[in-house]
Amino acid sequence: MDLKRHIRHVPDFPKAGILFYDITTLLRDPQAFSKTVDMLATPYEGKGIDAVIGIESRGFILGAAVAQRIGAGFVPIRKPGKLPASALTESYDLEYGTDSLEIHEDAVERGQRVLIVDDVLATGGTAAAAVQLVRRLGGELHGLAFLIELLFLDGKKKLPGEEIYSVLQY
Ligand code: AMP
Repeated sequence: MDLKRHIRHVPDFPKAGILFYDITTLLRDPQAFSKTVDMLATPYEGKGIDAVIGIESRGFILGAAVAQRIGAGFVPIRKPGKLPASALTESYDLEYGTDSLEIHEDAVERGQRVLIVDDVLATGGTAAAAVQLVRRLGGELHGLAFLIELLFLDGKKKLPGEEIYSVLQY
């Protein structure tokens, strides 16, 4: 099955010059969604992963499905101010300005094996901030898995030494 066929390309969203890879068209197709979860989860079956960490918001959808498939728990990394209990914050640079991500302080226990999941690896700033949050909690990062990797943005450069897997590349 050609999963790329199910991804909608939206030019100039959320701003001029960005080509947005819209996965809602993939998620609404039962076979394509199922195949996506298979492809994302299979490399991590039997690897002793305790928790899958999903990055808000599309990482929640894919991460939760992968967690169920591999028998792991699910942990959200959220935009600032959304998590109700005590949280750690990590800031990262955007093209213009900065942004931050948060994780609950008790979401990962020291030594737990975790996998980070998101829909798109673009410049890598978001994923690198998620990696820092996991490290600060003492989690052992098994790797990062993405549905889509935008090779021309070279996001892997911000994730040196990490195990990175992507299902589709552009
Ligand atoms: P980055 O920090 O540049 O790697 O951006 C990654 C985050 O932004 C992910 O959470 C993606 O969901 C989102 N993102 C970045 N670029 C795109 C794009 N072209 N299409 C869809 N989502 C994107």
